[in-house]
Amino acid sequence: MRYAIISDIHSNLTAFQAVLQDIEARGGVQLIWCLGDIVGYGPDPGECIALLHKYDHICVAGNHDLGAIGKIDIEDFNPEAAFACRWNGEQLDAREVEYLADLPLTIVEGDFTLAHGSPREPIWEYLVSTYSAKVSFDYFETNLCLVGHSHVPLMFELVEESGECLLHELSHDAAIALGGNRLIINPGGVGQPRDGDPRAGYAIYDSELQIIRHYRVPYDVALTQQRMRERGLPRRLATRLSQGW
Ligand code: ZN
Repeated sequence: MRYAIISDIHSNLTAFQAVLQDIEARGGVQLIWCLGDIVGYGPDPGECIALLHKYDHICVAGNHDLGAIGKIDIEDFNPEAAFACRWNGEQLDAREVEYLADLPLTIVEGDFTLAHGSPREPIWEYLVSTYSAKVSFDYFETNLCLVGHSHVPLMFELVEESGECLLHELSHDAAIALGGNRLIINPGGVGQPRDGDPRAGYAIYDSELQIIRHYRVPYDVALTQQRMRERGLPRRLATRLSQGW
């Protein structure tokens, strides 16, 4: 069976559509695993939720999902992110709000634990260093953990013999062979990549081959930026999409 691993769509419908097309072009998947932050920052929150619902999927909650509907406090967000998060929430109808409110914080599926930020702090913690990642391995039972939140495609490996934690950056078409050391994998962000590469990021897991492969997909950034301008969203949130930060 094949699974798409996507995260941080952030209301970027154009990027999400490009990723879905790329998935189809690679033979499709049976199920989407979504690691949260469907909404926030971008111009099309309701459309992104609706498009995700056209596919069989499971999804955990992200900080922007819960922030947009007032379920968590967003006072720690920077002013532009907070403005966009509130605007996103105002666009949602009652069913969309209910869907986001009901998202679980973590999901365990076979060999995988899914969380938005980290298994220790699913909503808020960023895993970008081996220091925080190493601690995280104590907070899930499965061999593998999938996270988003940082919008940076990378993998942490806990070396069984030494206990050392290694960081591997993931570039387009990188293949991860499963079945060895325990891993925490971030597929990158669909709607607001932050590793200096503006292309959308995601991954496909093939359970028969026991391989996860990371992909980058170009999309029409200017179209998303135009839609953000039309909706009065902060200019800096639009320009950053061109630079991938
Ligand atoms: Zn995010």
